[in-house]
Amino acid sequence: MQLTILGNNGPFPAPNGACSGYLLESDSGETCVLIDCGTGVLNRLMALGGPAALDAVLLSHLHYDHMSDMLPMQYALQFNPRPKPLPVYAPDAPEAVYALLQAPCFDLWEAKDTAIGEMRVSFTPARHPVPTNAIAVECDGQRFVFTGDSNQDALVELFCEGADLLLADCGLPEADHKFTAPHYSARLCGELAKNTRAKRLLLTHLNPKYDPQALLEEARAVYPAAELTELGATYYL
Ligand SMILES: [Zn+2]
Ligand SMILES: [Zn+2]
Repeated sequence: MQLTILGNNGPFPAPNGACSGYLLESDSGETCVLIDCGTGVLNRLMALGGPAALDAVLLSHLHYDHMSDMLPMQYALQFNPRPKPLPVYAPDAPEAVYALLQAPCFDLWEAKDTAIGEMRVSFTPARHPVPTNAIAVECDGQRFVFTGDSNQDALVELFCEGADLLLADCGLPEADHKFTAPHYSARLCGELAKNTRAKRLLLTHLNPKYDPQALLEEARAVYPAAELTELGATYYL
């Protein structure tokens, strides 16, 4: 598979940055899903051919930094109609935000284990203030796992086990972290990768308030191979 970073900030974008958005394609190029579609993701997706080539959108949750560009995507689809509505897998709450996705161009599905083309997709609830899922995609003999937004959680940890590539919510440094925080700290991302024997760790959901290099160093103290996601970069697994 190949993973392209269309957005890696949260909960708001850095200057010229973009919030959560990850394009995942199979080796054959026949299956392509977009995971999350936050602020600034749609323009980058348009540069790569737009929503026409997508088999589905998987939304980890309905906080705006993970879904806001689904709104103008409806216009993009109106002007470039697909033969069938675009399948969208998402939690159905908060209700008012979910209602914004109820458009004729989208085919809404409950976020539960499914096959999308060559990909086997699975979800598990994460620990966050609104219903949120961690998402795993298995394809081409590889396992990709995205934590969604989450704090430390036993179920998420089990779910991450044996990832070839773990994309983790690195929302804050350990100094600002507490048990009730909505995100992992950088250090906890490192521990998660180490404990679950991830082959590779990419840090995302970078808050522009914090220095990314400091977050990276904190994660590397536990998991030396940790990397920061780079906007626009493609990673192969
Ligand atoms: Zn977020
Ligand atoms: Zn969130």
